Amino acid sequence: MKKAVFPGSFDPLTNGHMDIIRRAAELFDEVVVAVGINTNKKGLFPPAERLALVEAAVADMPNVSVGIIEGLTVNYAQSVGASYIIRGLRNCKDFEYERDIAGANAALANMETVLLFAKPENQNISSSMVKEIAKVGTDRLAAFVPAVVVAALEEHFQ
Ligand code: ADP
Repeated sequence: MKKAVFPGSFDPLTNGHMDIIRRAAELFDEVVVAVGINTNKKGLFPPAERLALVEAAVADMPNVSVGIIEGLTVNYAQSVGASYIIRGLRNCKDFEYERDIAGANAALANMETVLLFAKPENQNISSSMVKEIAKVGTDRLAAFVPAVVVAALEEHFQ
């Protein structure tokens, strides 16, 4: 059985993340979307809330589950029995970052990373951009994030 972890901040979950999750769920028997804490990024939603939003958004995907990473991603992946890490690639900047992390994860635990290219229509979507737009108004966010996330952002910025 091929099992993969898709780790990320998901702060918040975007349509770009959703596309990667859907495609990973086609490629693997099981996918665990794992909410991690990126110390380099300023958080908007606490991890438990990010997890709840991902859970609601993937409710119709039977082979996708959701968890929270405490500690190293590779340790988490091993603890759930996954041998692959999924990540998404939007541009060259993502590539350099992902190459370094993939190298570290391979060295740490012989963990294989599978990179999926972002669809052209999602290439400019990032959680940071969504947060910036949400500060000004949530009415046009449906193009970038699932409906449950629009609702959570509306509540947050009310
Ligand atoms: P992290 O802080 O770990 O980079 P993110 O939530 O920002 O967490 O991203 C998680 C993963 O999803 C990363 O591999 C990132 O490159 C990918 N990703 C982010 N936005 C998109 C998008 N619009 N399309 C495809 N992949 C994306």
